[in-house]
Amino acid sequence: MLVCDTREAWTQFLQYIKAKCSATAFGNWFVPIRVLNATNEELVLEVPNIFVQEYLITNYKKDLCAFLPVKVTGEPSIVFVIASTQKRSIPPVRATVQIEEPSPHTLEIKLNPNYRFENFIEGPANQFVKSVAMGVASRPGQTYNPLFVHGGVGLGKTHILHSIGHYLREHQKKVRIQYTTTEAFINKLVGHLREKSIKEMKTLYRDEIDVLLVDDIQFLQDRPNFQEEFACMFEALSLRGCQVVITSDKPPSHLKLSERTIGKMEGGLVVNMGIPDLETRVAILQYKAEQKGFNIPHKVAFYIAENIHNNIRQLEGAVNKLCAYCKLLNMPITEELVSKTLREMFNLVPRERVSVEQILKQVASVFKVRVSDIKGIVRQKDIALARQVAMYLSKELVDESLTMLGVSFGKTHSTILHAHKNIQEKMSQDENLRRYISMVRRNLMD
Ligand code: ADP
Ligand code: MG
Repeated sequence: MLVCDTREAWTQFLQYIKAKCSATAFGNWFVPIRVLNATNEELVLEVPNIFVQEYLITNYKKDLCAFLPVKVTGEPSIVFVIASTQKRSIPPVRATVQIEEPSPHTLEIKLNPNYRFENFIEGPANQFVKSVAMGVASRPGQTYNPLFVHGGVGLGKTHILHSIGHYLREHQKKVRIQYTTTEAFINKLVGHLREKSIKEMKTLYRDEIDVLLVDDIQFLQDRPNFQEEFACMFEALSLRGCQVVITSDKPPSHLKLSERTIGKMEGGLVVNMGIPDLETRVAILQYKAEQKGFNIPHKVAFYIAENIHNNIRQLEGAVNKLCAYCKLLNMPITEELVSKTLREMFNLVPRERVSVEQILKQVASVFKVRVSDIKGIVRQKDIALARQVAMYLSKELVDESLTMLGVSFGKTHSTILHAHKNIQEKMSQDENLRRYISMVRRNLMD
């Protein structure tokens, strides 16, 4: 029979459970729960986090239903309230990061030895991110906090995050750093939950670190049960003045997380890791090859960087593949070899979707000439250049034979080849031309 007051029913439930489970489990899971309100119909419980709520419902639903009123849905009539962070015992606010003796178990961070500031090649698209990250690494908690770095895949976000870790480890030995991917954070939480040692983990993340580096926060979007826990930890760290650096594939406002968490992320500095321009890509490529003991000729480097535009990881993959190939065949790196070896990668450019007509239209708009002029025979300098660019891009992007391309332009296949070679040569010397061509390419991809 149901007891009228749900508070009384709860007390009886606790007594029943206490006799059933171990003292540790009872201490971990039930003691922290507080009754906020109780009526005849409903019990309002404050739980420290979502896990306690889930634990209770998953393991004791039947028992709860036996003691408490039951909703039409078959659930026990309990309203759960997650305790707000303010109520929890948070150490006093610190304006800056305090230097304390490191506690050994917080420092087992795994950083990629190659991801260092010294190995990060900068260009206009990423130098701001690098300098901000260096600022954070040299004065954690005092400049931009939190620092939120977002950008596309393979553009160096993880590289920058690890660089901060390395720098701190070497220059500020006493600062306690924790690096984690969002996946690892979730897995760790699940593990601690299973071992019922969640308190330990909380203490570690909230009280025993000065700098938290979190990679790929976008993965938190798919795990609603863990968002609350992350938010609490994030807020507790912020209150203590700890430096937090977060990376993501999209800006905070595009993440499906609570407004409060997004607000907190936006409260520091949000920076975008852009796609490096052609010259930076060439520099990265040559640097990576040099590290492997290879020297890629400038022209060949341009050829590769022109074809792989928006992912440095792919660029690295190309270098690795090429170096392996050259070593194996004991051959010098030439444009021909590059094109043969890397054909698959270059095919990532959506060839079949681009037509000569589309190219003509985009070239005409970027070069400020008319499509009819490009198709015509006028030899005026700017028109002739636009025409050759259109031929160059057609050979690069359209999946047609040279003869067919020739027909599209009313020329022979050798004219297309000549134009292609000519533009390639000009591009290696003319920065403006490279920019214009990149612009056409970008417009074609949109
Ligand atoms: P993301 O985390 O943005 O997906 P990563 O940091 O994993 O990208 O970078 C992918 C690869 O490209 C890494 O091997 C990294 O070292 C390299 N990389 C990216 N940007 C640069 C750069 N500016 N200079 C040198 N290497 C870079
Ligand atoms: Mg990454």
